[in-house]
Amino acid sequence: MQKRRVKKAPVIILSLIIISIISLVVIILLPKNNIKKQNNENKTKNAVTKKVDNTNYDMKEGEEFISKTKTSMNLTKYNGAYYVDGIMIVNKSYALDSSYQPQDPYKEITNEYLYGPEYLDKTVMEKFLSMQKDASTLGYDLKISSGYRSYKVQVDLYNNYAARDGVDAADTYSARAGYSEHQSGLCFDLNGTNANFLETDTGKWVNEHAANYGFILRFPKNKEIETGYNYEAWHFRYVGEALAKKLYNNGDWISLESYLGVDSKYE
Ligand SMILES: [Zn+2]
Repeated sequence: MQKRRVKKAPVIILSLIIISIISLVVIILLPKNNIKKQNNENKTKNAVTKKVDNTNYDMKEGEEFISKTKTSMNLTKYNGAYYVDGIMIVNKSYALDSSYQPQDPYKEITNEYLYGPEYLDKTVMEKFLSMQKDASTLGYDLKISSGYRSYKVQVDLYNNYAARDGVDAADTYSARAGYSEHQSGLCFDLNGTNANFLETDTGKWVNEHAANYGFILRFPKNKEIETGYNYEAWHFRYVGEALAKKLYNNGDWISLESYLGVDSKYE
C-alpha cells in the first residue's frame, strides 16, 4: 500500500500543475474575450452612425435611428415625434406622442384666430407674420383659422366627425388624435376651409409665394394616395425655405411624403 502511494504522488503533482496552468490561461483569456465582444458591439454601433453620416445627417443626442426611407433618408424618433433627415413627419403612419407640444411656442401676442391656449412654433409664427405683412401691402388679407391643436382637442374634433359621417369618411379629411399635423405647431389653415381658396386672388398669391417663407401646400391636388388626405387648399406647413422651394416645383407641388420616401396609412 505504501509503495503505491509513493508512486501516485508525482501524478497528483503533475495533475495539479496542469490544472493550475489551465486555470491561469482561462483567467488571462476571459477578459480578452469580453473586450473582443465589446469591440464588436461598438463596431456595430459605429456602422449605424456611419450610415447616417453618409447622407450628411447628424443625429442629436437621444435621437433614435429607426430605418432608411424609400428615398434613402434617415427615419428617426426624437422627443415624441418622427423625423426624416430632421424634417418632422406627422401623418397616418407617423403619430406624435399624446403629450407632444410645440417645443418653442410663440407667446408674444394672443391671436383670436388661434385654437386653444397654446400657440404655433415661434419660427413658424414669425414666418407667417412676415408673409401676412407682405400680403397686406398688396391688399391680401391672411388669417390663420386653425393653428396648433392639442391632442385633446383633436380627440373631440375627430370623434365628432366620425359620429357624424362615419369613421371611413372622417379618415379622408380629419386626423385621428396624435396623427394630426396641427399638434406639431408647424402648420395652419388659412382663411377658413375653402376648397377654392387657391383660385382666389389671395390664394393665388399665397400659392406662388408661400415657399419663399418656408411653407408648403401640405395636401396637394391628386396626391391623396401619397399624403393620405383629400386636397386641402388651406393647409400650409412650415419646412424651411430650401425644402419648400424644392417641393413647390413651379406650382406642381411635390408631396412631403413622396420627397421623404414615407407612406401615410393607418396600420
Ligand atoms: Zn389643417
